[in-house]
Amino acid sequence: MNNRDRLKGMMVGLAVGDALGAPVEFMEPGSFEPVSGYRSGGPHGLLPGYWTDDTSMALCSAVSLHECGEFNPADQIDRFLRWFRKGYLSSTGRCFDIGRRTLEALVRYERTGEVYAGEESYDSAGNGALMRLAPVIIYALQHAQDPQTLAREHGRLTHADPRCIESNAVFARLLSVVLEGVDKSRLLERLASWSSEISDVEVAQVVAGSYRDKVPPAIRASGYVVASLEAALWAFYRSDNFAEGALMAVNLGHDSDTIGAIFGQLAGAFYGIEAIPTEWRDGLYQYDAIVELTDAIIDGVTIDLPPGWK
Ligand SMILES: [Mg+2]
Repeated sequence: MNNRDRLKGMMVGLAVGDALGAPVEFMEPGSFEPVSGYRSGGPHGLLPGYWTDDTSMALCSAVSLHECGEFNPADQIDRFLRWFRKGYLSSTGRCFDIGRRTLEALVRYERTGEVYAGEESYDSAGNGALMRLAPVIIYALQHAQDPQTLAREHGRLTHADPRCIESNAVFARLLSVVLEGVDKSRLLERLASWSSEISDVEVAQVVAGSYRDKVPPAIRASGYVVASLEAALWAFYRSDNFAEGALMAVNLGHDSDTIGAIFGQLAGAFYGIEAIPTEWRDGLYQYDAIVELTDAIIDGVTIDLPPGWK
């Protein structure tokens, strides 16, 4: 497998995990027919293969990188705001799913013009920045920039809590190592070896391997960034391929779409795009356009974007 397959797998995996999880978002595990593929419905009444805010925000970042040719924080958050206010890059044409921290940050940005609009609050630390990292990692790696630094900057646009920032940075570091093509046990050993460098005790415990011995309900798909990272790592560690792990992730219910998107970035990069089941690639809303945009960012070239994407 070449690097391009992994980079594309990371971006498409994000959207596929989001689309698989969307129909069971906010549901209690066990209260729904287990997810085995795309289906319609859920709290947003989406069609099968349609994605939510996770993919919309990742696409905002990806289009920004494509249009600006660099990480431009003001352009990034401008596109997030367009999504929030006008439904830009939404699968339905409107913003129907937004996290609390993201909402607060975008309103703050709109009012003050402050680009790094995330608040350094300690009472909640959501997963809304971790879910949208893939395009930034692809750009960083293709332009010899430090993925961890860009992941922190990208996170601070909406989520400046230290737990969010550290989760973003360590996930960026993990994705960078995945793209080197190491095997799973060595990869997770590398991850564990970084735990002593992490300030937040809970993030450090997850990185050290808390996900190895736990099972649901101790593994929970909450919107808390540390729990989300743990749940995605649990599904990755306990499965042998993209499909198996993705279904484990989304069948946790609750914040299923975002756990799917976090898992999907990691597993998509690890197994590569070809390992994502064909029906999940073909059935993904705007699959071709997502792949073409990802290729353009990998190659650093400009392409004609679909109507409304600019
Ligand atoms: Mg979502």
